[in-house]
Amino acid sequence: MKALVVGGGIAGPATALALQQVGIDALVLESHLESRGAGDQVGSYFTVAPNGLSALEAIGTLELARGIGSSTRTNLMFGATGKLLGRVTAGTPLADGTPALTMKRSHLGRLLGDEARSRGIEVRQGARVVSVATDAGAAVATLADGSELSADLVVGADGVHSTVRRAVDPGAPGARYVGLTNFGGITRGTALASELAPESWHFVFGRRSFFGAHPTPAGDVVWFVNVPRPEIAPAERAGTTPEEWRDRLARLAEDDAGPARALIEAGELELAGDNTYDLPHVPTWHRGRIALVGDALHAPSPSSGQGASMALEDAVELAASLRDAGSVPEGFARFEARRRARVEKIVKVGARSSSAKISGRVGRVPLEAMMRVVFRYAVTDRSQEWMTGHRVTLQAAPSLGRG
Ligand SMILES: Cc1cc2nc3c(=O)[nH]c(=O)nc-3n(C[C@H](O)[C@H](O)[C@H](O)COP(=O)(O)OP(=O)(O)OC[C@H]3O[C@@H](n4cnc5c(N)ncnc54)[C@H](O)[C@@H]3O)c2cc1C
Repeated sequence: MKALVVGGGIAGPATALALQQVGIDALVLESHLESRGAGDQVGSYFTVAPNGLSALEAIGTLELARGIGSSTRTNLMFGATGKLLGRVTAGTPLADGTPALTMKRSHLGRLLGDEARSRGIEVRQGARVVSVATDAGAAVATLADGSELSADLVVGADGVHSTVRRAVDPGAPGARYVGLTNFGGITRGTALASELAPESWHFVFGRRSFFGAHPTPAGDVVWFVNVPRPEIAPAERAGTTPEEWRDRLARLAEDDAGPARALIEAGELELAGDNTYDLPHVPTWHRGRIALVGDALHAPSPSSGQGASMALEDAVELAASLRDAGSVPEGFARFEARRRARVEKIVKVGARSSSAKISGRVGRVPLEAMMRVVFRYAVTDRSQEWMTGHRVTLQAAPSLGRG
């Protein structure tokens, strides 16, 4: 059986690797010309939670991921006044002890793409898919250069602004702006790293922005800033230098206790003016021989910390579903049955986290008191377990004897 996987971000190469493990050959089509590895400066850092790591383990890439990630065990939440509001685990480590890993998004994309190539999977760069069609016997993808490729199935792993989603359902919803912009950077070799708890994310619900910082074992601090504001238009992005953005971010943090302002002022900006979107509910997940995975299907707001982990889980669950089914449409139906409730619940968690960041602008003292209650009773290690304690595998379930 042959598959075309549209998109060479995170979900695409992971899906191709998982499909190969169940005997389905995949060709990955990525619109970007250069390898994601060449664009190492694109994007900022994210954390792959233990549920996502279990998917990396299932496709035989966990060891590689350990090489690019730094251990992350705890999320510490602080108020603008410097008070500790709460402490939540980054998830129960895997059985072998691996905790959540923080890494650069582009490094994970490169790792997965390189590993796919080394296992004989073609990842074609500069291949932009403009439409996909399906009939009873095959699915056909048309590329921007007019060429057509045919396969037994097409998987749309083409991100939150997916083209393939429209092929599944022309009335499918579009991405929704969540009201937050995203900036990311790194402060190298800084003494401030020693002021942060090791193996943790240090979050600040600031007066005018939300800040996150993670100290790496190398003595650097990687950080991001979410700013509540209207979407950044391309003209504003093009007309603002990294230094101007950095000055604005530092000013937004100037009244907040903690290291945000100093880290921003001493740091380099690696992601500037990224608008954050989510995709809450996609009514139709598959049609005929076309299905969706990753952000194309259910983008949670980055505030959930689960975007990449969900994409990786999808890859494994789609391959397992196709392996266990008698036909491609039946495999897609199984995938939806396994996944829909879980991913929609996670998107809701992300939307709630985003609005907590937005409402943080007013009523500081009562808000911080309320958040301490939330982190004490509602957002706790136990209440997160359904999300980060979930595990996926490609090992077939042992069959029960009739005895
Ligand atoms: C530039 C960028 C930076 C990000 N930074 C962060 C971050 O710092 N923290 C975080 O939590 N999340 C971040 N995300 C989101 C996070 O990476 C996603 O939740 C997760 O990676 C889901 O991956 P995906 O493969 O489904 O989608 P994506 O990673 O968006 O990958 C989709 C891929 O499909 C390709 N593509 C799109 N349309 C077509 C087409 N028509 N034909 C062929 N290829 C196509 C795109 O070029 C892209 O490579 C970022 C996403 C992007 C695109």
